[in-house]
Amino acid sequence: MKILVVSAHPDPASLTNALRDVAVAELQADGHAVRVTDLYAIGWKSEVDRLDFPALPASARLRVPAASGEAFVTGSLTQDVVAAQEDLLWADALILAFPLWWFSMPAILKGWIDRVYAFGFAYGVGEHSETRWGDRYGEGTLAGKRAMLIVTAGGWPSHYGPRGINGPIDDLLFPIHHGMLFYPGYDVLPPFVLYRADRTDAATFDETATALKGRMRTLFETPPIPFRRQNGGDYTIPSMELCPERVRPDLTGFAAHIERPDHNVRQVECRS
Ligand code: FAD
Repeated sequence: MKILVVSAHPDPASLTNALRDVAVAELQADGHAVRVTDLYAIGWKSEVDRLDFPALPASARLRVPAASGEAFVTGSLTQDVVAAQEDLLWADALILAFPLWWFSMPAILKGWIDRVYAFGFAYGVGEHSETRWGDRYGEGTLAGKRAMLIVTAGGWPSHYGPRGINGPIDDLLFPIHHGMLFYPGYDVLPPFVLYRADRTDAATFDETATALKGRMRTLFETPPIPFRRQNGGDYTIPSMELCPERVRPDLTGFAAHIERPDHNVRQVECRS
């Protein structure tokens, strides 16, 4: 299979990059083809601005979705963005490796998403009408592919537990898992998170590397997080809310968007 690994750490000798390299070596040893994009090493431009749309007249306002969609259909996106999109289309799986910075991804990686996920490529895909709100959340350009995060975090596991002060890790990663990966179609695997990363010693590194190699070996067998699919009948259109006839009306928050038999009311059609 083909795997794209995108990493975001400024120090080539970092723990994050060492774990990335463990993952890449294991995937290659298992016979997969791997492409690696080290965003700092290539000097990725992270901000969206006019330079991204060279065909846009200088006098025109920069309305990013419109400019992005126009550049996508006319083939005038910048070469770095086009190459990254080709990598995404090439790969059967995407792995993002990064340190948790302010409870999210480093800005350079967010900027990679902002620029590569063009209108028509990652959003604005499919029919938008009264009865359908596009191909997204389980459908879209990257459907049928898998995605997974490798994250290092300074905090302890308990800090990210169900009652931990930082909030549950699944909640913190929800905007990435659900909003950036499931949205354009990926099946999203549970993340690989190394906690207390700054305290990593040789023994912890070896233990972590062993666990990570195991995750790489099962990359194409691990069940994805069962996010509810937008067009699977659990949401009303166009309000895009969970349908009370399908999902328990008392459920709110991120977890309600994950399919669980005990969260379902009954398998009837959504009335609204
Ligand atoms: P490094 O600094 O590269 O290494 C960490 C340790 O691993 C070092 O002591 C190193 O010696 C050791 N190590 C062991 N084996 C190896 C090896 N083979 N290769 C390299 N190093 C090895 N944490 C949170 O929990 N939540 C946050 O919101 C958060 N926000 C942050 C925001 C910023 C701006 C910064 C700078 C840090 C933040 N942190 C946060 C902490 C951050 O998540 C950790 O510092 C980071 O994940 C550690 O990973 P690293 O790759 O940078 O580690």
